[in-house]
Amino acid sequence: MVPPEILVKPEHEELRGWAREFAAREIAPVAVGMDRDDAYPRKLVRKMGEHGLLGINIPVEYGGLGLDLLSSVLVGEEIAKVSLSAALLIGVQNGLVGYPLSQFGTKDQKERFLPRLAKGEMIGCYGLTEPGAGSDAANIQTRAEKEGDSYRINGSKIWISQGFYADMVVLFARTGTTEDRAAGMSAFIVEKGTPGFEVGAKLEVMGARGTGTAELFFKDCIVPSREMLGSAGDGFLIAMAVLNQGRVGAAAGAVGVAEAALEACISYSKGRMLFGRSLSNLEAIRFLIAEMATRIEAARLLTYRAACVRDRGEEFIKEASMAKLFATETAVWASERAIQVHGGIGLSKQLPLERYYRDSKVLDIVEGTSEVQKWILSRELIGD
Ligand SMILES: Cc1cc2nc3c(=O)[nH]c(=O)nc-3n(C[C@H](O)[C@H](O)[C@H](O)COP(=O)(O)OP(=O)(O)OC[C@H]3O[C@@H](n4cnc5c(N)ncnc54)[C@H](O)[C@@H]3O)c2cc1C
Repeated sequence: MVPPEILVKPEHEELRGWAREFAAREIAPVAVGMDRDDAYPRKLVRKMGEHGLLGINIPVEYGGLGLDLLSSVLVGEEIAKVSLSAALLIGVQNGLVGYPLSQFGTKDQKERFLPRLAKGEMIGCYGLTEPGAGSDAANIQTRAEKEGDSYRINGSKIWISQGFYADMVVLFARTGTTEDRAAGMSAFIVEKGTPGFEVGAKLEVMGARGTGTAELFFKDCIVPSREMLGSAGDGFLIAMAVLNQGRVGAAAGAVGVAEAALEACISYSKGRMLFGRSLSNLEAIRFLIAEMATRIEAARLLTYRAACVRDRGEEFIKEASMAKLFATETAVWASERAIQVHGGIGLSKQLPLERYYRDSKVLDIVEGTSEVQKWILSRELIGD
């Protein structure tokens, strides 16, 4: 197959330039604190909402910018160069929450939630993973039992990004039996404040810090039937559609982090003197930088290509998984090598390299681990 064309238009480049400036001006000053203190950046989130970043892909009629996936990829890459955590917050609001509501919500649901999500007046999260169901998402045990015109929800979720601060969750629960697996899953919108919905402890993780990762608990939580997203039994399809698109976003974040690591290596190696010459004169370092740039460019092309295939309305499961797998593993590799190039100072908190390494490792796990991507790809290529 001839690879589909990657079409980065002048307006995309303009948006990229704008995102780069925004990141330098608004995100760089809080990036270190977010990571060091595991601090959720409320002011920044408000500002990102005011500037449209939380509704990049949300349709214009519902208060968003209505842009394509390639636009959010370019923005994600630029923001992640400065702070993966900030890029992740944008990704959760747009991709994990705004997208399923835009795509599967009723007019009433869209009108009630999307404009506030786009502006950052409401914070959302995506609740799929459970202690016993991560990669095996069809095994979720949270139950939603129909009672008249409502559902009674019982269960718990874990590792939910922005869960600690969210005002609402796109929640996946089982309306069928456990044996139904994927076919027995449904999606609901549950607002904070609904009796029986409790937010648990904030979970401290090594990377993507400051994103308010938390556990969510549901105990006899009554949710009106009108808050179901799609129809009963659509939950798995919705969850996978969201994750497929989210993988392209994770790949974009990985490209951004890897690029930041590369830029640091180039700049540091030119200034560091060893044995009477600069580090950048050593062939081992020169070749490493050449290899880094090549792998990052390949990751970028895979990522842009996945977004372009999606934006043309074509199936993009294989493209998204390849981009996610290659870009996140490239980011882990490049950030680890960048620490090596810097020697002792690479390990210190004076530089952001050790943060890049910790952040990259998170990307390698969320939205489906590398092994899960290989499993998806092998299924796409060989069949079941
Ligand atoms: C910081 C952070 C943020 C997150 N945000 C969210 C969020 O917002 N919403 C949400 O719902 N979830 C979220 N998650 C959960 C995340 O998606 C899961 O952790 C991830 O999918 C892996 O699931 P698991 O942790 O249960 O690991 P497991 O599924 O138990 O996997 C354990 C190991 O088994 C491997 N494995 C699994 N299947 C196969 C296979 N078929 N073949 C070979 N090896 C396999 C995995 O690759 C992994 O190495 C987040 C997690 C973290 C850490």
